[in-house]
Amino acid sequence: MRGRAAAAEDGAMENPSAGQGIEALAALLAASRRAVVFTGAGISTESGIPDFRSPGGIWTRLAPIGFGDFVASAALRREAWRRRFAMEEAFAQARPNAGHQAVADLVAHGKVSHVITQNIDNLHQESGVPEAQIVELHGNTRYARCLDCGLCLELAPIRDHFEAHGEVPDCPACGGLVKTATVSFGQAMPEREMARARDATLACDLFLVLGSSLVVYPAAGFPLLAKSHGARLAIVNREATDQDGLADLALHGEIGPTLGGAAEALLFSGRRARLG
Ligand code: NAD
Ligand code: ZN
Repeated sequence: MRGRAAAAEDGAMENPSAGQGIEALAALLAASRRAVVFTGAGISTESGIPDFRSPGGIWTRLAPIGFGDFVASAALRREAWRRRFAMEEAFAQARPNAGHQAVADLVAHGKVSHVITQNIDNLHQESGVPEAQIVELHGNTRYARCLDCGLCLELAPIRDHFEAHGEVPDCPACGGLVKTATVSFGQAMPEREMARARDATLACDLFLVLGSSLVVYPAAGFPLLAKSHGARLAIVNREATDQDGLADLALHGEIGPTLGGAAEALLFSGRRARLG
């Protein structure tokens, strides 16, 4: 593991080993009374869902379809839906991994108040984090929504219609356009979720980023908000991010073993010692 840990009281710790990084992360979690976890696509790669910006990620192959283009062009709507259904097997088969599980454990033990996620894959819910403690900034791709009346729709019948007719049906209630319940580039952010994320960020004393390149705004503004409001900032990401320089701890490694190790040390080591 490469990284920089300028954490805690002992000053800068350059290039910690994997073990030192995990210990430093466990120490930050131990010192926290109310942490927030912020996740990006990187937490789900270990579940088999590719991220956008890693080598081989989705965007090295396909440019994203923005909201304006989706609304304006029937051909781009068909292309957006074709891509979504091409990903269906990956989404349907994906299960929460060690990183999601560690987050769920930290929530269950009262260490983490909220999980703010940019992900659309529903894996935090599937790992057992209560819905009330999840903030989905970019929506959810496991269902669809009418862009006019907001009606929620299941994907399976939409897919059947798409395969039979080459396009998706309009909203059965109002005739509006139907789109996955995700937030595309150029689409308004969900106001309620933004407000929930802001409240959770302002109330935390530790903000932990897991698997985000921190280049998508406004989501990437939350770690900055936390830090400017006095919280500590920790980042676990395979590669460096633009915000590493601000962080109290920035670890460059895989989320599953890193956070899994820290959560295990924090939550379960005493129990194992007692059992042993
Ligand atoms: P991103 O692709 O920009 O960045 C992901 C980061 O995670 C990269 O810096 C990469 O180095 C790191 N990473 C990948 N696997 C890792 C691992 N196992 N351990 C540690 N780090 C790892 O993703 P983003 O910042 O979330 O922004 C992209 C946007 O794409 C988000 O808004 C999100 O809505 C969407 N998206 C979601 C999913 C999903 O729901 N699973 C997948 C792809 C994209
Ligand atoms: Zn409608």
